Parts: sequence; structure tokens; C-alpha cells
Amino acid sequence: MKTAGVLAFQGDFEAHRKAIERAGGQAIEVRTAAELAQCDGLIIPGGESTTMLKMLELEGMTEPIQKFAAQKPVYGSCAGAILLARQVTHPPQPSLGVLDIAVERNAYGRQIDSRIAQIPMAEGGDMEAVFIRAPIIREVGEGGHVLAVYNGDPVWVEVGRHMATTFHPELTADPRVHRRFLDKL
Ligand code: GLN
Repeated sequence: MKTAGVLAFQGDFEAHRKAIERAGGQAIEVRTAAELAQCDGLIIPGGESTTMLKMLELEGMTEPIQKFAAQKPVYGSCAGAILLARQVTHPPQPSLGVLDIAVERNAYGRQIDSRIAQIPMAEGGDMEAVFIRAPIIREVGEGGHVLAVYNGDPVWVEVGRHMATTFHPELTADPRVHRRFLDKL
């Protein structure tokens, strides 16, 4: 069975590990390059992208993840999507630059920063989505697919072998996002 790693420095990595298991996969927590080397794909969870960025530098994981992503699938949810993005604004912030999307952080504003919404999926039907201080995906690179939208903005995208959601599928019972990632491994 293929193994999905979940970057486990900060944020809701535990929920992603359980979501992978609910979707029928196998997951391990990743904090070192040696653990990363055991994985067929990597999930970067939601949390606080600024903190995670510092942890990646401190632990020497920036380059190992960039090299990993050049060969294998990565999936970022919310802060994870911000970390993987090619470009980050509002405010600008460095990133791993491995997923060809441009994101605007905390883009829904402070008053209405968290919500649960039914989002229409490209393949038909809806999905319940939890947004927590979510970014908005402003650009999707060439050849990218938008798999779900909310208020006209992409909230689940796939570019090449990689994937991002601005919502948190690990917090709902719907296994479709994690199942799709497992299918890519
Ligand atoms: N607002 C956070 C950030 O910019 C992301 C929030 C989340 O992951 N739920 O890093």
C-alpha cells in the first residue's frame, strides 16, 4: 500500500492522518527528510503558514520538500496551499513555489473569516467545506484543473501532479479529497 506523509510541525496534521486512513490509505507523520523519503506523497496541513515556514527552515526541510515535489505529488490545505504556492500576497510571503497557483492570504476578511459552505464540484454534486481564515486562489497555472468553486473562486485545484484546497476536508466526513490524493500516489 502507498504511504501518504503528513507534515507534522504545526496545524491539524493529526486530522489529515485520520482522514487518509478513513479514505482507505496509510499515513505517517513527517518531521525529517528520512521520514519524507518513506512517502509516496506529502500533505501539508492547515495551520499558520508563517509558523510552518519558520519550522521548515529551522528543521532544514525546505529543500527536501522541494526536491520531493519535483518527483511526487504534494497536497496543501489552506496554510499548506499557501506554503506550496508559486506566489503569495496579502501580505507577500516566501513559499516553496512548487505548485503553480497564486494565493491571497486571509482573503475573506476578518468579520467573516470562518464558515461552512456547500460548494459545487466540477464533477457534479456538492461538498460540505469548512473555511478557516482561508486564502483565495487568484491564479491557476497552465494546464491546471479547478475541481470545486466557492463564490466563483477556485477552492480545490489540481496542477500537474499536485493538489490544493483552501478549505479543510480533514474536518468533515467526506473522503473524496483524500481519496483523490491517494489515487495520485
Ligand atoms: N490564515 C492562515 C495563514 O495565512 C491559514 C489558515 C488555515 O490554514 N486555516 O497561514
